Amino acid sequence: MILTEENLPPPVAPMLDLDLIRKYSVAAPRYTSYPPATKFTIPGEARELQDAIADDNRPGAGPLSLYFHLPFCETQCWYCGCSTVVTRNRDSASSYVDDLEREVALVAARIDRKRPVTQIHFGGGTPTFLPPEELARLGMLIHGNFLPSSDCEFGVEVDPRRLTAEHVEALRVIGANRASIGVQDTNPQVQLAIHRWQPPELNARAISWLREAGFKSVNIDLIYGLPLQTAETFSKTIDEVLELNPDRLSVFSYAHVPWLKPAQRIFEARKQLPGPEEKLAMWAVAHTKLTAAGYVDIGLDHFARANDELAIAQRNGTLHRNFQGYSTQAGSSLYGFGVSSISSTFDSYRQNFKGLDEWRQAIAAGQLPIDRGLVLTDEDHRRRTLTMRVMCDRRLDFRALSSILGVDVASHYAPEIAELADLEADGLVVCSPDGIEVTPKGVPLLRVVAMRFDATFTPGANRHSQTI
Ligand code: SF4
Repeated sequence: MILTEENLPPPVAPMLDLDLIRKYSVAAPRYTSYPPATKFTIPGEARELQDAIADDNRPGAGPLSLYFHLPFCETQCWYCGCSTVVTRNRDSASSYVDDLEREVALVAARIDRKRPVTQIHFGGGTPTFLPPEELARLGMLIHGNFLPSSDCEFGVEVDPRRLTAEHVEALRVIGANRASIGVQDTNPQVQLAIHRWQPPELNARAISWLREAGFKSVNIDLIYGLPLQTAETFSKTIDEVLELNPDRLSVFSYAHVPWLKPAQRIFEARKQLPGPEEKLAMWAVAHTKLTAAGYVDIGLDHFARANDELAIAQRNGTLHRNFQGYSTQAGSSLYGFGVSSISSTFDSYRQNFKGLDEWRQAIAAGQLPIDRGLVLTDEDHRRRTLTMRVMCDRRLDFRALSSILGVDVASHYAPEIAELADLEADGLVVCSPDGIEVTPKGVPLLRVVAMRFDATFTPGANRHSQTI
């Protein structure tokens, strides 16, 4: 039976067992890809990566998904882990769109542009650093080169501090219909400590503009583990954002990576970061309050209303995962544009140069600005399927997967399945001859279950964020 809004069964609520979360929480990949992006090793100019794009035009290839990385920000938030360029020079926006035009031309010449585009995402940075006229130009670039479907999911990351009604209008005109609003924390002391001053009226104003303009879905991003946060202050933040009535929420764990992001060192110097127990308490309070308010835990920091398409897809077994997180869009090839963006086809992953200059130079030379990538082996393909099914369905059905993957899953992966014994003994998974089921207690540790099927994972050698 296909589930719809009318015949939804009640959601299966994850259970919080904080002792088990303490026991198993480790630094682990977020599995927006398998193998994870840290394993991309093939240099960008390698023939095999170029061939993988040509191969993506095979008959019967799925739809397209487009990602545009718009890296500019007016000010630096000190916690930020994104690829950004901090500047107040608006001319940067215009010249960046010029370069995006060149990059789109390079890619569009290599792919079948008749394939429908079912997903578009503007990420950053701050996409609305681009003035409305540059957003309009970017829209023309997309519509002039590709064919967005009538039900295309078009999402934009929004910073309420840098949003005007004119931005919203420009985004709506080019087809944007989903917004993800960066709030992080509503406490003024925390905002000062992270160098992101954002009075609550800006959040309310942004949501009101977006809703009035007809955006179908509004997501709010929060972060726990930031300086000066406590479970008590974060509880108040949750209460305040619930009053804004978002369709979805993302509650991310702050990733402290000062060796990659030196601006984060200030938190250590000021000794303002909460400890792991306080952080766990914040996550518990967020999870408890959001699920009590009727939001469904989609997995890995994401919550959605029970009638949201993500929650429906999860219960319907049609949820997917890609570089933008959870999605209802299956089988599409992702083409990323702009600095640091990642592309993914059936057989390959590719990441663009992270530096603006290197990215520009490659485009100016008429080359795809690929820094590195990976071509998947047959075994990578199989493990990608297993990892994604754990992350999305919370179960592995051996018979169904064996017929898809062309191997007997139970015997081919017998060592990995045997390694689930400790998780099973603690009630996080149930293993049977037919498959593996993640229990409600195991849902907060989905990454830990997926990790057992990750042949690339070396404990201690990976500098990923903690699972909680
Ligand atoms: S958090 Fe957002 S607005 Fe702040 S620096 Fe990072 S990308 Fe820019």
